[in-house]
Amino acid sequence: MKAPRFSYVRPESLDSVLELLAEHEGEARILAGGQSLMPTLNMRLSEPRLLIDINRIDALKGISLEDGTVRIGALARHAEVLESPLAAEHLPLIADAMPHVAHVAVRNRGTFGGSIALADPAAELPACAVALNASFVLASTRGRRTVPARSFFHGLYETELAEDELLVEARIPAIAPGYRSAFMEFARRHGDFALAGVCCHARVEGCVLRDVSLACFGGEDRPRFAAAASAAAEGRAWSEEVKDAVKAALGGELEPEGTFHASAETRVHLAQVLAARAVDRMLAAG
Ligand SMILES: Cc1cc2nc3c(=O)[nH]c(=O)nc-3n(C[C@H](O)[C@H](O)[C@H](O)COP(=O)(O)OP(=O)(O)OC[C@H]3O[C@@H](n4cnc5c(N)ncnc54)[C@H](O)[C@@H]3O)c2cc1C
Repeated sequence: MKAPRFSYVRPESLDSVLELLAEHEGEARILAGGQSLMPTLNMRLSEPRLLIDINRIDALKGISLEDGTVRIGALARHAEVLESPLAAEHLPLIADAMPHVAHVAVRNRGTFGGSIALADPAAELPACAVALNASFVLASTRGRRTVPARSFFHGLYETELAEDELLVEARIPAIAPGYRSAFMEFARRHGDFALAGVCCHARVEGCVLRDVSLACFGGEDRPRFAAAASAAAEGRAWSEEVKDAVKAALGGELEPEGTFHASAETRVHLAQVLAARAVDRMLAAG
């Protein structure tokens, strides 16, 4: 199918983007990499009157490190993050996850901000942001606000973004000394959206885990900070007993939907196995 008729603008400044969003509130869509938006239009799942192409806005580009926080501009392409030495050194979880995001062609155009704003529940980057306790900077003509990733995702493709707001950048704490992370997912084919996935981040002292952060994605309507599973591992030496406690906690807190691709039970089972493997891998990496 072909996309419905729409108008198209490619502003040269951030202020122009925000003014256009305010002026056409509810009728405009941001066009970033277009990898999800364009198929949606072609399938007529969405019919915006105006597309605002943000690709010329330099203020939304780049990856940098400031005071222990990595800033990823909304327009940073997946390929750029994948190849970034800064991300590899300071955000190993995201570096680990990025090869699982789609395929080369999609990664060349798709953007970090597009993935966060889209909020696909099976996407890798929103879950990494939740595990790492990142925050997002949102801008509109009303001003700027910073929203924690753990409260940004409201549900299936629903976020904290208001219709006149633009996601400007993600701010992610750089990995601190003593911390490690691991990413694992199960997808039917490499590059597909995951049926289940787990992000793990913790301070490791010998085989004792502290400040544990487990996030799961792929089964529910949004990425979940697995609070009970994280608490089950907190301050404990990793053992079969703790592994079982983490699995039991996940079984209690995850509420995935069963679908054609996998039942709810299968998705919980996958998350449990992946979580245990992620911690094993994190400890083995030391
Ligand atoms: C074949 C295929 C396989 C894929 N596999 C995966 C996968 O395995 N894992 C995965 O995570 N993703 C996958 N994707 C999605 C891909 O990562 C997209 O790039 C991403 O979801 C959207 O990024 P984009 O820059 O293309 O955004 P766009 O398509 O341009 O926009 C997506 C949505 O976000 C909004 N938006 C974009 N940027 C902003 C912003 N800065 N502020 C506010 N709103 C904004 C748009 O208005 C639109 O509603 C796949 C896509 C394809 C086509």
